[in-house]
Amino acid sequence: MEYPSKLIEEAVNEISKLPGIGKKTALRLALHLLKQDTTETLQLAEALVNLREKTRYCKICHIISDSEECTCENINRDRTMICVVEDTPDAIAIQNTAQYNGYFHILGGVISPLEGIGPSDIRIDTLLKRVNDPESTIKEVIFALSPTMEGDTTAFYLAKKLKETEVKITTIARGVPVGGELEYTDEITLGRSIAQRMVYDGKS
Ligand SMILES: [Zn+2]
Repeated sequence: MEYPSKLIEEAVNEISKLPGIGKKTALRLALHLLKQDTTETLQLAEALVNLREKTRYCKICHIISDSEECTCENINRDRTMICVVEDTPDAIAIQNTAQYNGYFHILGGVISPLEGIGPSDIRIDTLLKRVNDPESTIKEVIFALSPTMEGDTTAFYLAKKLKETEVKITTIARGVPVGGELEYTDEITLGRSIAQRMVYDGKS
């Protein structure tokens, strides 16, 4: 594509690096930014810089947070359960169902031999530490992983590691379409699947 302005070209190149955004859409967005009030564009720019520079991963549950420790230790939560998810959007989706009020643990990925992601590449160590902590109040670990091969492999590995502990291991009910992504499952289905969770038996 030919651009009348080098600056527009630069903006289009940056915007089109975002997932699902092609050059045409990027151009439309760039032109939209030019049309809106300067303050709005500056607010967007500031929000992006803040997002990049100020967000952290909570060192306990690894959710994206504004501080080193999020509100995961909030006393209003059910301290007996910990829900294991692949990433922050999954935790947000489950939280939004209002069917779950326990702790979360964000793995930051799933085991995928094809992509070279092994157990030590995701936050399994800190999950085991949380469960095994002598002061731990955790009685149940809930697997809320996508029903994909990678999700199943991860659940299987985790179950093996958690076997030595006293905790009950459960998994969300499969109202979630097989092969689907948890974060895109509708709220009602996801809420039902966590309310109707079942004991994990290593099969799916
Ligand atoms: Zn946290």
